[in-house]
Amino acid sequence: MNEQRGPDHDVVAVGAGFAGMYLIHRLRQLGRNVVVFEAGDDVGGTWYWNRYPGARCDIQSVDYSYSWDPELEEEWTWSERYATQPEILRYAQHVADKHDLRRDIRFGTSVEQATWDEDASLWRIRTDGGDEVTCRYYVMATGCLSMPKTLDIAGAESFDGPTYFTSRWPHEGVDFTGMKIGVIGTGSSGIQSIPIMAQQAEEMVVFQRTPNFSMPAHNGPVRPEKIETIAGRRAEYREEARWSRGGVPLPPPELSVFQATPEEREETFEAGWAQGELFSLFNAYNDLLINPAANEVVSEFIRNKIRSIVEDPVTAEALCPTNHPAATKRPCLDSGYFETFNLPHVSLVDLRADPISSITSAGIDTASRSFEFDAIVFATGFDAMTGALVAVDIAGRDGVTLKEKWEDGPKTYLGLTVEGFPNFFAITGPGSPSVLSNMMVSIEQHVELICDSIVDLEADGFEVMEPTRTAEDGWITHVNDCADITLYPRANSWYMGANVPGKPRVFLPYVGGVGPYRAACDEVRQRGYLGFERRGPNGSACNDGVIRRVQPDVAMVLEMMAEMGLPPMESLNPDEARAFVAASAEARPPGPEVGEIVDGTYPGADGSSLEYRLYRPDSPGPHPVVLYFHGGGWVLGSAESDDPLCRDLCVQSDALIVSCNYRHAPEARFPAAVDDGFAALQWVTENAEALGGRPGPVVLAGWSAGGNVAAVTCQTARDAGGPAIAGQVLITPVTDCDFTRPSYSENAQGYVLTRGLMDWFWDHYADAADRTDPRASPIRGDLADLPPALVVTCEFDPLRDEGSAYVDALRAAGVDAREAAFRGHVHTSAGGVGMFISSAPIRQEIASALRSFVSAQEVVAD
Ligand code: NAP
Repeated sequence: MNEQRGPDHDVVAVGAGFAGMYLIHRLRQLGRNVVVFEAGDDVGGTWYWNRYPGARCDIQSVDYSYSWDPELEEEWTWSERYATQPEILRYAQHVADKHDLRRDIRFGTSVEQATWDEDASLWRIRTDGGDEVTCRYYVMATGCLSMPKTLDIAGAESFDGPTYFTSRWPHEGVDFTGMKIGVIGTGSSGIQSIPIMAQQAEEMVVFQRTPNFSMPAHNGPVRPEKIETIAGRRAEYREEARWSRGGVPLPPPELSVFQATPEEREETFEAGWAQGELFSLFNAYNDLLINPAANEVVSEFIRNKIRSIVEDPVTAEALCPTNHPAATKRPCLDSGYFETFNLPHVSLVDLRADPISSITSAGIDTASRSFEFDAIVFATGFDAMTGALVAVDIAGRDGVTLKEKWEDGPKTYLGLTVEGFPNFFAITGPGSPSVLSNMMVSIEQHVELICDSIVDLEADGFEVMEPTRTAEDGWITHVNDCADITLYPRANSWYMGANVPGKPRVFLPYVGGVGPYRAACDEVRQRGYLGFERRGPNGSACNDGVIRRVQPDVAMVLEMMAEMGLPPMESLNPDEARAFVAASAEARPPGPEVGEIVDGTYPGADGSSLEYRLYRPDSPGPHPVVLYFHGGGWVLGSAESDDPLCRDLCVQSDALIVSCNYRHAPEARFPAAVDDGFAALQWVTENAEALGGRPGPVVLAGWSAGGNVAAVTCQTARDAGGPAIAGQVLITPVTDCDFTRPSYSENAQGYVLTRGLMDWFWDHYADAADRTDPRASPIRGDLADLPPALVVTCEFDPLRDEGSAYVDALRAAGVDAREAAFRGHVHTSAGGVGMFISSAPIRQEIASALRSFVSAQEVVAD
């Protein structure tokens, strides 16, 4: 080792599975020097270790194979849709031979320690053989499911007979002929191996803690339709995979399960079941993994399949998963798993009813029985995603270890790099699509990204790259935002770290999809390594920032809208804009059922008849009354235009919502809208009882321009000496005509409500001279003695800062006012009922404010 000459190697990597193998090839192409340390005696990684009987891939092999060598694609033919472990291992060996990869791999060698040397800008690597090497870049290519979970069963060491772990199966195989065996674990490994082991064993008892959703693989030769899809267009097919959600090209589902009739669903699910693919059932409808009720439909379909296969009804019921939504634990593809329980020598012990008390010298004791076995098989899983990474003593800058840094859960930028760990990469690390994708696609992307990053780094004159804390925190927030709109966090799965006692409970992989993830990584690069600090002998550059800030479901809709290339609303005339808004309203989810809807009219300020729509809760009245004003820039909208939001607020707050229309500009300009607002308040207050509401002060609420009407109405009512108002809920309101606050320039475009559209609204509504009137810009009025207020603001809204400023001004005037600021949301988020799952907390906050204003009023009245 001579540090004057630089490190021994450009790159050291750990693990000679598919990731490490491709890394060698790619780095060699770039003329870099790489060495890979591998604990096993040959290549293959997970396929080298997991040799249990029945081990197979659960993504079709034509997809779960390298795409970077077109020649290999032509010369290798898979014998089955889902290749067995020996065939996949042969494939890995074939690639190693073909590209002479083994000469850069040190087999039978584990890395024990890796330490970043800040002064020399290199990593010092120590192996279990005591060797030390240095490298500029250090890559963990250790896989997501490679560290077996430590056995957490009492007496695990006391069994006298042989024990086997599916994850460390003897190379020579095991013959269970004539044996009584016990198997613990019914994840993918158990489900794949149980049918095969049952063929040999004289007696088999399966100990099941959690039943799993599994469907038949229908394995066999690659199906003609698959061959047809790929034939003559393999490169395009592979490219489609790279931009797909799960790393296998599939059309995204367009329908909710509830848009199909029960017969249509049944037909679709039957076709999915017959297809024998992991995605075939769960990709059938777009809400199966986000809506619990939708998931229950597919869950029950699978349970019914289990009931139809397993003859003994008690066993069948015990095999039916009920404690987690389908697919929130990794679902399995099996070959005769449920049928195995019809064999006379196979039985199931349901550990939920009869838990294991300990493993004994003779077998397994449960709470109620003692079992004797000749052998025990543990299919008990892995310390997934982080286990193998923290098993090496990796110390970054300032000596902090990865294990210490990840004490409360892993933190990464893009699931690949870690703040405090310069020039360190974790292929398919936590926070990347990894285990929720076709691993081959994700491995290839990471290998290519590492190589591109290294080339760019050096070309730009640097030698060290490290993500910033801001970028990393932002990414983890985004990873959690993505998970939170799904049902995944509801399961005690290894995705959540929940299978390992004491492991922090956080969602580990990135569920946003392979394509969107790739787009984020590409954007990081295109934007000059956003979120990285890059350093070298001649200086450093820090391009701090967060790559994804908008809530993922909102971002998806924004992207769709951008793709539609709609003309800006402000280029339309008011009638065209109204027609467009009405047409869009037709397409949105309707919102929840309420007890009753009543349409009627009330007298506006000029005596004209204006519409109202009343939403009555499905609970005994009389209910407190909320007077609501719709949004639409004083130009658009109607009493029913915020229908889904009003329904949702009615259900959640258990209040009578009276949505009152007001006259619109340009036909009726300022101050018609706010004059009608006050007229509505007077009429609703006077008629509260007749409407079925509780008499007394009402609560005012409004969204956007409706928030402006509500705020102004509060001021008018105070000045007029009544009617009394219990509270005001202003949802992303217009409070001022001033466009100079930062949110107007930061969010001028791209987040639905644009600066241009606000110009258009104001121009239609009010003359320049009128805009500073407090009845147009309520922030400019006297704010003393106003009702308590909740003001909702959204991060990506031009109106954000005037909403916050209104709260400040109210408080300065002594009003009990509070801001609820929503991260990652846009002006229209609150109304996205059934569309933006991430916006549910906004509506919960509003509903709880409505309830609290009413109950505070009740206390005062008492
Ligand atoms: P797993 O899914 O974590 O399953 C482990 C099983 O052991 C679960 O049924 C678990 O029950 C049970 N278990 C663990 N500790 C236990 C205890 N103390 N007492 C009783 N039961 C206990 O692990 P896996 O089956 O090895 O699969 C892990 C992942 O590897 C899969 O999800 C998949 O991603 C991958 N894999 C893929 C394939 C393939 O088809 N290509 C094959 C094998 C594995 P609980 O659920 O109650 O914790």
